[in-house]
Amino acid sequence: MNNYSDSHKVMRVHTLMKVLQAIQGGETWSKSDIQEITGLSWGSCSEIISLFEEKKILVYRKLTKQNNNLGRKAKGFQFNEKQYLFIGLEVRQNLIVCSLVNMGKTELYSRRYKLKENLSGTNIFKQISEVYVNFLVDASVKTQSIMGVSVSLNGGVDIYNKKWIYSPRIENIRNIDMNQLIDFLPAEHYFNIEHDINAQALSVIHLHKWTYNNYVFLHFGEGIGMTFYNHGLYSGSRGLAGEIGHVPFNRLPKDRICDCGRKNCFETFLSVKGVLQLIHDFCGIKLKNLNEVDQSIISNSALNDFMKEAVSYILIFIKNILDPEQIIIGGEALEPFLPVIKTKIENKVNQESWLSGNNIIKWYSDKEINCAYGTVMTSCDKMIEQHIINNLI
Ligand SMILES: [Zn+2]
Repeated sequence: MNNYSDSHKVMRVHTLMKVLQAIQGGETWSKSDIQEITGLSWGSCSEIISLFEEKKILVYRKLTKQNNNLGRKAKGFQFNEKQYLFIGLEVRQNLIVCSLVNMGKTELYSRRYKLKENLSGTNIFKQISEVYVNFLVDASVKTQSIMGVSVSLNGGVDIYNKKWIYSPRIENIRNIDMNQLIDFLPAEHYFNIEHDINAQALSVIHLHKWTYNNYVFLHFGEGIGMTFYNHGLYSGSRGLAGEIGHVPFNRLPKDRICDCGRKNCFETFLSVKGVLQLIHDFCGIKLKNLNEVDQSIISNSALNDFMKEAVSYILIFIKNILDPEQIIIGGEALEPFLPVIKTKIENKVNQESWLSGNNIIKWYSDKEINCAYGTVMTSCDKMIEQHIINNLI
């Protein structure tokens, strides 16, 4: 192949992707809308739309009155909801959550499957493939309509080699080659695995339709994770970036040993388990669940002051080192305390970070997280591009 045809091919892939990406997001578009937002000529826009229509990637549809009440256009192009679909799977110890998403990044269906037997390194492929097949049936989708599968995993995940290195909460997960899953699924698909923190981040970002090109996303839950996004996810040299939960913070009255074997990591006191221990240390109350937190605990000034200090320390550190456009933060471990500590944290970070000023912190609610959907968001554009290269060029 000569250089001209190579660069022509690259340009063509780029243009087709540009059209698809411009209209993702669940809307209905007329041809002139598409032309306007892509800036393409009428001729090349028409040609590309005809190609996508012929391949059934886009369908021309008249909307029902009911949909029209939502302020959508009466007719136009939409992404197919029957073909070119993605399935996202969030794999947990006793639960697999599934999400069905189309090329337009709209979630069409989702369902949670409680596992009869806990997941482990020995039954993992059987468990996931059984749930996958049940989900196809429940969603009334044919296996050949699925274009790609993306799996969200916790712990240590080598996304480049698709290896699940270890999980703190699931037994016998040691360097599992997740590529083997493809053989257990009923048809061949594009396949991706992703760290759950990135899936969490992209689910929240897409839910809010935020369009930041540069942000840090933090989640304080069973563990503490961080995503750094700069015109794309930053995954580090081995795909393990973002382990801020295992940075030590030596201001605790008494040392705590972390699950990772080291001392005083943030996870030992700002994860769900860690906050329960803090409540015991500061208030003398033993709780099993953060739902039980009451006003007396939330307003304990020594406790909420300590939490404010620790969270602010993380944020100042991040702000000074990464200079993000936004810091997006939340999670069930912090949520009960937010009414008291939120503004204090914002003020402290604004005053004490090096380039102080604008408040760049945004808070999300834990219930907005949808890892099964988010893992598709981390990978579907790559899979669509691959499909274009393999089939449309
Ligand atoms: Zn640790």
